[in-house]
Amino acid sequence: MSTSLLYHGFGVRGYRYAKTEYAAGEVTFTMEQPRESYRCSACGSEDVIGRGQNARRFRTIPIGSKAVYLALAIPRVECRRCRVVRQVKIAFADPRVSYTKAFQRYALELSSYMTIQDVADHLGISWDVIKEIQKADLKRRFDRPKLKHLRQIAIDEISTAKGHVYLTIVLDLESGAVVHVGRGKGGDALKAFWTRLRRSGAKIEAVATDMSPAYIDAVTTHLPGATLVFDRFHVIKLYNDKLSELRRALYHELKDTMQKNGSVPSS
Ligand SMILES: [Zn+2]
Repeated sequence: MSTSLLYHGFGVRGYRYAKTEYAAGEVTFTMEQPRESYRCSACGSEDVIGRGQNARRFRTIPIGSKAVYLALAIPRVECRRCRVVRQVKIAFADPRVSYTKAFQRYALELSSYMTIQDVADHLGISWDVIKEIQKADLKRRFDRPKLKHLRQIAIDEISTAKGHVYLTIVLDLESGAVVHVGRGKGGDALKAFWTRLRRSGAKIEAVATDMSPAYIDAVTTHLPGATLVFDRFHVIKLYNDKLSELRRALYHELKDTMQKNGSVPSS
């Protein structure tokens, strides 16, 4: 092992390799942070004084079937500007977790081919850790999408639990992303969305909805400048209903006429 192998093999940069230990089927690489790279984690200042260390071990990607750990004594520094003692930032792991970003990525890649339990068994780690990694990934990718760039949206309701639970969904029509899910149907389910939308400063050009008066009201109240569009399915359905009515009316009219004349039309 070496400093450059740490970088090329494990994606860890900015630390010096110190030693390797083998114990109980595990491999531990100990690293050191060079004094010249100490920074205040709040303001980024280099003007800091060393105030001890906090020894930590991080699980990282395995070598063959061996579990691998990175050990680092994380420096604590006092910032001369902030006047506060803090731990320096760690480049290779998220705060408060005991595994590296590389390990996270590896577990996520495996997760697309096997169950949580399979990944946990394979890596010799608990089910909860894999679940935690998946949740953090979902949160990072889908939490609270930014509304600022929304231009064209669609509002629709769906029912789950065999029609017992209604959800109101708002879609970004350009990206297809779901940007809001509200409980229930009708205007109330959109309240939180209007608040977020107003704060985001988005300029909505068009809104597609079904023809329910509740949505039409909500849109004309909250987005008076937007064009309201009814989706094709609902318009065609209404058009077909009208045509069927007309067809029935014409049929009955014709039947009456022919009965008066003594002949019955075939239906
Ligand atoms: Zn500072």
